[in-house]
Amino acid sequence: MDQEMIEFQKPEENQEVLRTHLEELGNHLSEKIGKIFGRSLHIREVDSGSCNACEWEITALSNPVYDLERFGIYFVASPRHADVLLVTGPVSRNLYTALLKTYEATPEPKLVIAVGACACSGGLFQKGYASLGGVDKVLPVDVYIPGCPPRPQAILQGLLLAMDKLEQKIRKRNFSDLHEGDTCHRP
Ligand code: SF4
Repeated sequence: MDQEMIEFQKPEENQEVLRTHLEELGNHLSEKIGKIFGRSLHIREVDSGSCNACEWEITALSNPVYDLERFGIYFVASPRHADVLLVTGPVSRNLYTALLKTYEATPEPKLVIAVGACACSGGLFQKGYASLGGVDKVLPVDVYIPGCPPRPQAILQGLLLAMDKLEQKIRKRNFSDLHEGDTCHRP
């Protein structure tokens, strides 16, 4: 192994690369959120039957290393205050109704993000006596974040992708409102 390679593997330098990437990602996300909402972004996390490891990674986003709130992103307790639902785990039959009610209580335009292999496809649980499979078996999913569990950076990257989707949704909705308005005024 050459000297350059050994140098790159110094933990403090890896930390520096990670921090720079995180800052860039967070600032980009923060700009997008400001442009779309003119305020902060609110997320409701829903565990529909995960093993809890995906939750650990989501929780890490609020620790002092990632400190998500400095980018204007907050976790909220009520779906009525949420713009985005982060769903983990395969949809267990026990939590199906709770997930559906949470989705229905979230105001439009809402986004659903499936976090982790189980939420994306049912993962190792798949469809069975206790599980309905991935989240898209019961809800429309806008963004998939794979991984078992995904790292916090991957979740941030997924949020960035979700903001692009949301922008498209809002543009589409505004266009149809405009179109409907046109139709009303036609003789
Ligand atoms: S994706 Fe992996 S970590 Fe996440 S709930 Fe499924 S088994 Fe657990």
